[in-house]
Amino acid sequence: MAEKVQDRVCGMMIDQDKAAATAQYKGKTYYFCAQGCKKQFEKEPEKYVK
Ligand SMILES: [Zn+2]
Repeated sequence: MAEKVQDRVCGMMIDQDKAAATAQYKGKTYYFCAQGCKKQFEKEPEKYVK
């Protein structure tokens, strides 16, 4: 069973293996439902990482 992870940008819960995009930030991997969310995250990662 796939692990659920949260898209930090839009808040949607997604299956880790179905993520449309991933990004590395400060040694952690973040998962996104779409490329657009990843772009948004990369623009202002501090806004989404607490
Ligand atoms: Zn999203």
